[in-house]
Parts: sequence; structure tokens; C-alpha cells
Amino acid sequence: MKYFVITYGCQLNQSDSERIASVLETAGYQSAPTMNGADLMVINMCSIRQSAVDRVYGKIQDFIKLKNKKPNIKTLLTGCILKKDLKKFKQQFDFILPIKTLKEWPEILNKETCFYYPNPRENQFNKQFSTNYFFVETKPINDFSIQIPISSGCNNFCAYCVVPHVRGPLICRSHKEILKEIRSFIKKGFKEIWLLGQNVNDYASPINKSVNFPKLLKMVNNIPGRFWIRFTSPHPKNFSKELIDIMANCKKITPYLNLPVQSGDSKILKKMNRPYTVEKYKRLVKRIRKKIPNICLSTDVIVGFPGETKKQFENTVKLFKKIKYDMAYISIYSPRAETTAFKFKHVIPHHEKQRRHKRLTEILKQTALENNKKYLGKTVNALIIESKDKFLIGKTDTYKTIKITGHKKLTGNFIKAKIENVSPWGLKGVYMELVCI
Ligand code: SF4
Repeated sequence: MKYFVITYGCQLNQSDSERIASVLETAGYQSAPTMNGADLMVINMCSIRQSAVDRVYGKIQDFIKLKNKKPNIKTLLTGCILKKDLKKFKQQFDFILPIKTLKEWPEILNKETCFYYPNPRENQFNKQFSTNYFFVETKPINDFSIQIPISSGCNNFCAYCVVPHVRGPLICRSHKEILKEIRSFIKKGFKEIWLLGQNVNDYASPINKSVNFPKLLKMVNNIPGRFWIRFTSPHPKNFSKELIDIMANCKKITPYLNLPVQSGDSKILKKMNRPYTVEKYKRLVKRIRKKIPNICLSTDVIVGFPGETKKQFENTVKLFKKIKYDMAYISIYSPRAETTAFKFKHVIPHHEKQRRHKRLTEILKQTALENNKKYLGKTVNALIIESKDKFLIGKTDTYKTIKITGHKKLTGNFIKAKIENVSPWGLKGVYMELVCI
């Protein structure tokens, strides 16, 4: 029996898919190189934007064609699913299962069909499954970079966000379990560790509440070995001084930070249920830059949130000009059922949302290029992550994309490169040597 997994959405979903692969392979399945060769098709879906959901509806058409050719093929849907979509998907999939039940899948897959998708915030369900599925050994897609979830779910209820509704409450993994998993990957030679959580700053180990996120980072940093530590995402509301100090003092933590601002207007932030002001955010960035001068900053921002006036959007423009981000993930607001903002009036027309998106992208292009020019002529350390059309693509410690020429066997290694050319979205350089960081 062969399986094929399609993953949509964030790094947490990608990490979950690595565990799905592991469970299926332990149960005797093999990975199929394409959808056509699979006996079991798994979609690990995302509901953060309607476009992500529409992509699943698009895939269903391919499944119908496949089922016509191969009637025994089974289809399974998991990931972040809104209640309103569940009913429709029930007609199209043989199995709909929450990721938290992953350990039970080999048994469930012996059945013809199974639809089990309780409310992800239901106490009983969470008591029963908790973070059980994190005990499944993961099957990474490469042998140098691994994503380690430190928690699942979220309790912040930002007004636009489906995560607390579809992923359930915040449940943290024990720090001992996280460290054990990381140590095992370091022993295997992994070079980049990503710690993942919807808001890493909310982390508290369930077996010792005093182990918060900064302390966890320090413990990871103390693991012997040559590797980089990255994490995503922190909430500006509880980004502590302790965390800044740990980032500044721990050598393995890379100088890159995604600090989601979501809006450059304090009234909109309040409406979004993001409990910080723009002034507070700016002060935080100043403190971080003072302690970590080479930090590379990215952000997440939403344009066209209900009621966002042109003036309020201009405040986001001002913030972008002031902070001079290296990268920004700019989203056009997408109304999501079950969220608070879904009921908000004063919807911004789509063409205006697009205009705002374009405007911010133009500013980002300028600031990113300006920042990247500082790399010209300099030597950087990078981890090569893939080889593509005779080029090697890597990420610097500051998470800049770098393109160099070199042999594909360098993939998965730390290298030194000299930067000769830059664009807003990356650096181009020449390979110098392999490095031990
Ligand atoms: S912190 Fe806010 S945006 Fe992030 S996952 Fe939680 S609710 Fe969503």
C-alpha cells in the first residue's frame, strides 16, 4: 500500500505531515512518488484563508478522476477544518480525522470510512488526546533541518484568526520531551532546529511551569553540537526582556526574527484583539535592535481588516517606512467563519485591499533592497537547503535567501560565501568554503 500526503499551510502543518508519514510507514505503507501511484491520499489542510480552503475543493476534482480509475483508493482529510466546511467535505472523503488522533490512524484505516472531528476545544477530546501525537517519531523530509513543535493550539483569539477554533486550546509539550527529541536529531547531524508554536511566548512546560520559552531556548542552546536555532512565531504582547537577553547571548540562536505586527494602527490592533499599541511595538523593536544589532526583521500584516480607513492604512505605511523590514508576509484580509471579525461591518472592497497590498509590497521592496545592499562585498555563513538548475539555494543565519553556484553535494552543509549581487528578495554570491559554525 502506498500513500501520498498533500500539505497546505504553515510550518506546523508541514511538521504534522512529517509525523503522518512516520505513522503510515510504521504501519507498512510506502511513500508514493506521485498522487497517481497512491492507495491512500491524505490532505493536511489549512483554513487560515478562503483561498487555502478553495485549493482543497480544487484537489477533490482530481480525486474524483483518480477514484474513477482506481475505485479502491482511499482519501483522508486532516488539519485545520472549519465546521462549515466539514459537512461538505464529508461527502468527498473516506476519512476525516483530527491530527491529535494520529496514533490511532493505523487501526482506523482498517475500516471502510470514519468521520470523527469533534470540537477541537472540547475538554474531553483534549483530555483524551492531549499532545499524544507528538510522541510519534517524525520522518523529516531532509537530513539537516527539523521543525519541532513546542505546543499546539492557541488561546489568544485574535479577531481574524481561526487557529484557536480549529487547532483548539494551547497545550504545551514538556520541555524534557522537546529536548530529548532535539538531542536525537542533533546526534543524527541535523544543523537547523526550528521551534514552532502559534505563540511561542505563551510556552510553559507542563511539568515545571518555571520553564518558559526563554529558558527552553537556553536549554536547547546548551545542547552540545554545531547547529542553528530558529523559532516562530512570537507575539509582541509578551516578548520579554528575558527573551531578548537570551537571544542576544546564546550563540546558536540565529539573528532572525519574525515579529508579527498585523497592523500599524493602534485602533485596528485593538479591534483585532491584539493587546499592544504601535508605540509599544516600536519600542520593542528598538530594544531588540539595541541588543542584537545585526537582527533581520520580518513581520506578518493584514491589509483591509473590516473598518480599516485609508488613514489607518497610512499608519501601517508609516510603520513599514520606519521599521524598514527585511521581509513581510502581507495578507489581504479574508473573512473566516467562527471568528469575531466575521461579523464586523464596513467590509473593504477587494480592489482597495489589493491597492493596499501593492503599496506595502513596494515599500518592502525598497527597504529590503536597502538592507540587502549592506551585504555587498561581505562574507556570510549559510546553510544550503537545495540545489536547483545548477544553483545552490541557502539561507543565511539572518534567514536571507542566498543563491550560489556549487556542487549539489553541498546541500545540507554550512558554507561561507562572498556576496556579489543583491535584490530585494535575496543575495547572490560565490562559494568560498565549507564551515564549521
Ligand atoms: S496568536 Fe492570534 S494570530 Fe496567532 S495563532 Fe493565536 S489567535 Fe491566531
